[in-house]
Amino acid sequence: MTYEVKKSDEEWRAELSPQEFKVLRQAGTEAAFTGEYTDTETTGVYKCRACGNELFRSDTKFHSHCGWPSFFDPADSSAVELISDRSFGMVRTEVRCARCGSHLGHVFAGEGYPTPTDQRYCINSISLTLEPKEPAEGAADGTAEDSAEDSAESGG
Ligand SMILES: [Zn+2]
Repeated sequence: MTYEVKKSDEEWRAELSPQEFKVLRQAGTEAAFTGEYTDTETTGVYKCRACGNELFRSDTKFHSHCGWPSFFDPADSSAVELISDRSFGMVRTEVRCARCGSHLGHVFAGEGYPTPTDQRYCINSISLTLEPKEPAEGAADGTAEDSAEDSAESGG
């Protein structure tokens, strides 16, 4: 597959941290329960850390308790590329960014999670950048932070 974003290893190394390079460009896996987005519930979009392609949305993220951020559906099915991965004596489906070919994680199906697709996109946090959604207009009610003056301190 030809990717829209194509860079040499040297170029990727210059842009990514050593840990990011290992996962994104060498199909590494971060240790379970260590990633920054494992239990994140922030509303927003998750983009490819290598190229910025929008990959997942927070409304498809769910708690799988597997130790990695888990999504039941990509934001757009063409945003990711699925490749049969037979490494380590297993048959798995690798998930890559369709724009730059960087490794994101794996997808598993039929595990019985109560999600609409019964799929689990098990994605390394380090492959993603969360872009939080701006608060909706009108959500802030203009309450000024001048309420709690120290009048309650009368314990003397
Ligand atoms: Zn990418």
